[in-house]
Amino acid sequence: MNAVDDKTVVKEYFNATGFDRWRRIYGDGEVNKVQRDIREGHQRTVDTVISWLSADGNLPGLSVCDAGCGVGSLSIPLAQAGARVYGSDISEKMVREAYERAEAVMPQMNNLAFTAQDLESLSGQYHTVICLDVLIHYPQEKAGEMIAHLCSLAESRLILSFAPKTLALTMLKKIGEFFPGPSKATRAYQHREADVVKILETNGFSIQRQGMTSTSFYFSRILEATRR
Ligand code: SAH
Repeated sequence: MNAVDDKTVVKEYFNATGFDRWRRIYGDGEVNKVQRDIREGHQRTVDTVISWLSADGNLPGLSVCDAGCGVGSLSIPLAQAGARVYGSDISEKMVREAYERAEAVMPQMNNLAFTAQDLESLSGQYHTVICLDVLIHYPQEKAGEMIAHLCSLAESRLILSFAPKTLALTMLKKIGEFFPGPSKATRAYQHREADVVKILETNGFSIQRQGMTSTSFYFSRILEATRR
């Protein structure tokens, strides 16, 4: 499967079965045990990012691009904390859901905008660009191009999360592939941290903070890189 196919498949998935699956996981209704584990892991990733940004004490007015914003799990709390947030996602359905969730908790929405757009076509400049749990859908070469593009949008900082490629996780993934569940319709790609760091450095960034979320079924390495 080449990169163009990956993107088409991902877009279709997140407008169909993937939308239903992830909207539920990123919600608060009843889910199965595995989905609950993923929900809790993902929430920890979101919380880590929010804690970093809050600690800097400059969230009000800060411009933030949330690329691949999903249902707004990060965009909404950041906007509630006063940041100017531009959330975008390749899936129209995800964006609509994000908009509805935002409307329910902050009817004004002066500082929050959502658009249906793939991150490769984003332009403009943002103080901080964030891209959580998106790269898992793309192979290394394509992910590298995406990271380089995100760097070009970031005035000061880029925060990324990805599934790290480690031996233990590679084995877990193989076991997962051996017992495919009905809703695992997309491929999951892991990325070597050294490769990600190299791309960030080539684009003029260096690592500031790092985090890792591991639960039984969810693994996400979080890197904050700032412009040198
Ligand atoms: N970042 C969000 C959502 C993660 S789920 C969060 O952490 O809560 C992954 C999301 O990436 C999906 O909503 C999917 O539609 C989106 N996505 C996948 N490929 C994309 C691309 N090329 N450009 C923009 N969004 C993309």
